[in-house]
Amino acid sequence: MQSQFHTRREFLKVSALAAASLPFVGALNLRAQTAAPERKIGFALAGLGSLSTHQIAPALQKTKFCKLTGLVTGHPAKASRWKAQYNIPDKNIYNYDNMETMADNPDIDVVYVVTPNGLHAEHTIKAAKAGKHVLCEKPMEVSPEKCQQMIDACKAANRLLAIGYRLHFEPNNLECVRLAREKVFGNLNLIQAEYGFRIGDPTQWRLNRALSGGGPLMDVGIYALQATRYVTGEEPVLVSAVQTNNDPVKFKDIEESIAWELKFPGGAIASCNTTYNFNGFDRLRAFADKGWFELAPAFGYGGIQGRRSNGKWPVFPPMDQFAAEMDDFAQCILNNQSTKVPGEEGLRDLKIMMAIYEAAKTGKAVNLV
Ligand code: NAD
Repeated sequence: MQSQFHTRREFLKVSALAAASLPFVGALNLRAQTAAPERKIGFALAGLGSLSTHQIAPALQKTKFCKLTGLVTGHPAKASRWKAQYNIPDKNIYNYDNMETMADNPDIDVVYVVTPNGLHAEHTIKAAKAGKHVLCEKPMEVSPEKCQQMIDACKAANRLLAIGYRLHFEPNNLECVRLAREKVFGNLNLIQAEYGFRIGDPTQWRLNRALSGGGPLMDVGIYALQATRYVTGEEPVLVSAVQTNNDPVKFKDIEESIAWELKFPGGAIASCNTTYNFNGFDRLRAFADKGWFELAPAFGYGGIQGRRSNGKWPVFPPMDQFAAEMDDFAQCILNNQSTKVPGEEGLRDLKIMMAIYEAAKTGKAVNLV
């Protein structure tokens, strides 16, 4: 690949701009969680599907600064089950058409949007208009334009918007950021990141572009992309990509697997893969001048394992990434602080993912600066 920079000055300028825009820089530590909360932040979950049921609602029970106080669902039967299980009063149960009436409900501070990707903007904007802060699942939406609308709506309502990037709170991933940032092994040269799984039910919304925005890249490849950005601490300047659709019936609307390469201004390149076609695909490796470090598995809810070429990997106590992410957002609200995973971070990923799709479609590298 031809160098993007003709002079060192040009390179430093782009690097400095990139670093200034990165929330991970200067935010490596988990927020201290020692102070007793004056009050708990009330969360309403919008979308009571798999993630809400199996991860977020149980995690809310482990938080220090949050409580589950409300629900938004299109299914009255689900509402009844959840209401009984989590002791939610009828007055705190909404559907997608009456969310705006939450405005007069002081029990709800945050709406956590956990619906299909292509509905995130609609639900975020409704919540913001009701005066609620929003934590929205990844990917932020299906286009940069929709992401911008979400940012604008939350700004207009003077509410915080965060994206559910749980790995920004996971200690092994943060250790990788520390090793890179402190140059423990010198300058980074190459990053390999991969995350994928074999998708089941062919009727699910993840295979429908209108609701998903794309295939495994939007769903889980985004973690590999995120990792290359938080490990380098830089924004990529060039991307190339290839994709496959070997099963054109199941994957008629989206890619089946996609591989992409990124060039970073500091000199590192990244090679990434994602798929909806096989399991056990979950790893992050970084090669630097004097050694390497890796996580395998790297991106799941737990069981993340680190290794390094020289020295011991620290043993971190088990933790719940969703509880940490929600407690952090609650503290941002309680202390009037900004979040390290703002809407702008989700928008950056969407812009890069659109460039990855363009590169795969055209067969040509896409410039990102
Ligand atoms: P899911 O299909 O299990 O749940 C989606 C929910 O949205 C369901 O309750 C469904 O009833 C509701 N919904 C509302 N309108 C809908 C419509 N028009 N079509 C389909 N469903 C509709 O999905 P999920 O796995 O819970 O994913 C939800 C969101 O969470 C997605 O954005 C996904 O990317 C994200 N997610 C994040 C993680 C993570 O690790 N952070 C993991 C899984 C999913």
